[in-house]
Amino acid sequence: MEYERILSAIAPCGLSCETCFARVDGGIHQLSRELREKLGNFSAYAKRFENMLEAPVFEKYPDFEAMLDYFCSNNCNGCRSEQCRLFKDCGIRPCHQEKGVDFCFQCEEFPCSKTNFDESLRRAWVLINEKIRKTGIEQYYEKTRRRPRYV
Ligand code: SF4
Ligand code: SF4
Repeated sequence: MEYERILSAIAPCGLSCETCFARVDGGIHQLSRELREKLGNFSAYAKRFENMLEAPVFEKYPDFEAMLDYFCSNNCNGCRSEQCRLFKDCGIRPCHQEKGVDFCFQCEEFPCSKTNFDESLRRAWVLINEKIRKTGIEQYYEKTRRRPRYV
């Protein structure tokens, strides 16, 4: 496994950038673009299908389309390239560069109080980094690729 690839996929905090909905080359973004392309001008047909199939679910098509457009519009290059779009106040990105570590679990200060995460995210951060320390980054990365990002 190429370490550079892992660095691009996994943020210093241990969360997966590769499977994040905002990642420009991630599965959610790419598949959303593909689906939008395949659907074409489906919104013009949704009303017809609603009546023809007696399926009120088609009423919700504009909401679905808005969500799809949103997934398509995100274009983050990942935490190693730019400030995270979701956790704008993240303290880890500048800190790990200063510390000269690729991941928090490698830092002698871990678990520190510099993350600016809320309690729930902080707990997840600690657990993830303990897991990576135990199993190794390669095995952890392989798991993140196989499972959904949002569980
Ligand atoms: S940096 Fe943040 S917004 Fe960008 S891909 Fe990673 S987790 Fe998602
Ligand atoms: S000090 Fe904290 S945020 Fe900074 S690299 Fe170490 S563990 Fe991560």
